Amino acid sequence: GAKSLGRNNYQVYANNVDATQQQQTELKARLRHAVRNDELRVFYQPQVEASSEDIVGMEALVRWEHPELGMISPAFFIPLAEASGLIVPIGEWVLRTACAQAKAWESRYGLGLRLGVNLSAVQLMQSNLASVVATVLRDTGLDPHQLELEVTESISVKTVPHLVETLDALHAMGCRIAIDDFGTGAASLDYLRRLPADRIKIDQSFVRNIGVDPDDEAIVRATIEMAHHLKRGVVAEGVEIEQHLQFLRLNGCDELQGYLFCRPLPTPAFDKLLAERERLVNEGRAVPA
Ligand code: C2E
Ligand code: MG
Ligand code: MG
Ligand code: MG
Repeated sequence: GAKSLGRNNYQVYANNVDATQQQQTELKARLRHAVRNDELRVFYQPQVEASSEDIVGMEALVRWEHPELGMISPAFFIPLAEASGLIVPIGEWVLRTACAQAKAWESRYGLGLRLGVNLSAVQLMQSNLASVVATVLRDTGLDPHQLELEVTESISVKTVPHLVETLDALHAMGCRIAIDDFGTGAASLDYLRRLPADRIKIDQSFVRNIGVDPDDEAIVRATIEMAHHLKRGVVAEGVEIEQHLQFLRLNGCDELQGYLFCRPLPTPAFDKLLAERERLVNEGRAVPA
């Protein structure tokens, strides 16, 4: 069942970092150093099929392993990276690292797992983004259909010039496009109408309220139904408890991601998870059960 992917706790965040302006400036310099000094890590969180709970993909999530502060959350340093422009090399590094890793897992285990990679608005403003992605795919050998680029809904079609054209170009290359944090932005429906989105990721703020807030439950149900009418897939983020799973499954959500199944894992732990799955399959046991 839901516990089969393990409940590891690798996320030890320096959550109490409450930086002043002065500290922000220092941290930006530190982040620049971190990129050069190889302190960034890519973790991978499984996505499972709702019906079978079998793994069908993973999301690449970056962390900063600070020598003194420990693992720093992207929620903290991505905004710094965006403000300083460092997100461009960081984003490309994450993409390349994750695509190479996904290709290695594909060679080792097959499975055709989908790889989700988050794109920042700043990356989407670069006119060469599509060619950067094409180069990374060519260099790593990953099938473009296995790559899903996640675009958060807070990115505005107004502030990012050529957003639609850039995503169209990526889509034409075979990459999948997912709308991340769906429902939290001001332009959910406009986004859905204008972007070549294959999938919607329902934001965890809605999922969290399943069993708590009937309005949010109604939004989740309606989002799944609407997505399916539009022939889009739906992933729910932040699935933490059995009740979330039951509700989402009952309402036809396609895929699930959340701590109930697995936390984001460092590469060796994720590899172990895939090896264990393969062992169960070879023994003829149901997966993941
Ligand atoms: P996101 O893309 O919406 O990623 C999902 C976040 O939810 C991740 O947080 C993940 O660890 C967390 N999560 C997954 N399951 C659960 C759950 O059951 N409960 C709860 N409470 N949280 C869960 P994380 O890794 O801290 O990343 C935060 C955000 O930072 C991401 O949100 C994304 O917007 C950004 N981010 C992470 N990696 C990258 C990256 O490589 N590039 C860019 N541009 N942004 C990134
Ligand atoms: Mg995401
Ligand atoms: Mg999200
Ligand atoms: Mg988010």
